[in-house]
Amino acid sequence: MPTRTITGNRGLQVEATLIFEQDTPGVTAVDLPDPPKVKGRLGDMGRDEAIGLPNLSEPEVVRHYMRLSQKNYAIDLGMYPLGSCTMKHNPRLNEKMARLPGLSDLHPLQPESTVQGALELIETCAHWLRVLTNMPAVAMSPAAGAHGELCGLMAIRAALEDQGNPRKKVLVPESAHGTNPASAALCGYAVESIPANAQGRVDLDALKEKLDTDVAAVMLTNPNTCGLFENDILEIAEAVHAVGAYFYCDGANFNAIVGRVRPGDLGIDCMHINLHKTFSTPHGGGGPGSGPTVFSEALAPFVPVPYVVHDADGFRMVEHESRSDAKPFGRMKAFHGQFGVFVRALSYMMSMGSDGLRQASADAVLSANYLLARLGDTLTPSFGGPCMHEALFDDRFLKDTGVSTLDFAKAMIDEGVHPMTMYFPLVVHGALLMEPTETESRESLDGFIEMVKGLAARAANGDAGYFKNAPRMTPRRRLDETAAARSPVLRWKKEDSAQNTSE
Ligand SMILES: *Cc1c(COP(=O)(O)O)cnc(C)c1O
Repeated sequence: MPTRTITGNRGLQVEATLIFEQDTPGVTAVDLPDPPKVKGRLGDMGRDEAIGLPNLSEPEVVRHYMRLSQKNYAIDLGMYPLGSCTMKHNPRLNEKMARLPGLSDLHPLQPESTVQGALELIETCAHWLRVLTNMPAVAMSPAAGAHGELCGLMAIRAALEDQGNPRKKVLVPESAHGTNPASAALCGYAVESIPANAQGRVDLDALKEKLDTDVAAVMLTNPNTCGLFENDILEIAEAVHAVGAYFYCDGANFNAIVGRVRPGDLGIDCMHINLHKTFSTPHGGGGPGSGPTVFSEALAPFVPVPYVVHDADGFRMVEHESRSDAKPFGRMKAFHGQFGVFVRALSYMMSMGSDGLRQASADAVLSANYLLARLGDTLTPSFGGPCMHEALFDDRFLKDTGVSTLDFAKAMIDEGVHPMTMYFPLVVHGALLMEPTETESRESLDGFIEMVKGLAARAANGDAGYFKNAPRMTPRRRLDETAAARSPVLRWKKEDSAQNTSE
């Protein structure tokens, strides 16, 4: 039996060279007359030389992108239980709204009188966020969650500087997302880690011990990255405020509590909201994010510009204070922020309604608990009791099998499912973090559970070799991830595909 096809293709998995290698000089998809030479204000701006784009016909371009799309996994193809990332369904209505020419063809420098609807849309989205969080102020401009963290910390620094001392440290739990310590460091703070207790939550006594007047802020994720609600959050807020520090909440997991818990009621001073997670927008290579950041009354004066105001003259984007005590620390981004994501998020919020958002958080938590309950006797749950929107397991169930969390995840790829998040959070060994979201049906969850149980049985039966050789069915087999990052080979050679068909 031949071990590979003549072409290197595998059925519908078609091998192709990079688009830049498909260049056929003279071929073009669109025939346009040579443009006239234009003398602009900056002199002769006409280009004399080709800029090195490949020459391709329209079918070649279409096939290129179609093939690339077939090599991808997507929430539109199946379950995508990537913990912390909230890969929920993106309703097509959102996309339809974002593509309306009146919203998609705007320019940020257009006269305000011609974009009243867009400004109203930003303000309406801001209103929903203020109401859902019970926080009085919001900066809409941060471009992603991590950018929102930086925005919050810059406001905290501005508030502390205003009191005469920016302070030195930010405390971050061990289980935090890597962006938390990175944002604190970028903002000029030393980062100190707070240990977790045996229940997967912040160790309150350890936190209190570290709190002093050098601490500018505590950054907490709630529900945390173990998928657990921080039960001591009110006491934490009180202790943080008692030393004059501010309480930052990483709101990436807001989808677990939206419509049920308002962060403003928990003593939180600022929190970013990943619109692309909680309020559904394609993300993770699929599109831009957006990280509006909400603020308590204590930090509201320091919120960065710009913001939308509404008065007798209509909607305006203001670059100066709209409150008498305003001392904005500056700005996070040119213009208004990620307008296209605002459109999608508002479309999601308004089509769900407040009751629908409340239902979505309930269903997300129910789905995760269903996984936890039905997989609890096969995998090893890291903590006792129910979870919030994601279920955390560690690799104790793989002990002595010769199979690692990574091997297990690679075998899931062959089963046609995107693996869960691996090795995060760092507080448990070989973590498997599963976030099914409210998107999945009972049938879909059952299929996933049977697949995971089947793989776990295979591992327990001593079939480590099967796992070490996974994935087998993918366009590329297991990559050396270090070498792939450090010395990437970006040119495809026909011979390379031989590895696809040999064991
Ligand atoms: C996704 C995530 C972030 C970062 O958000 P981005 O939008 O990717 O910048 C921060 N913290 C947690 C817990 C997250 O899940």
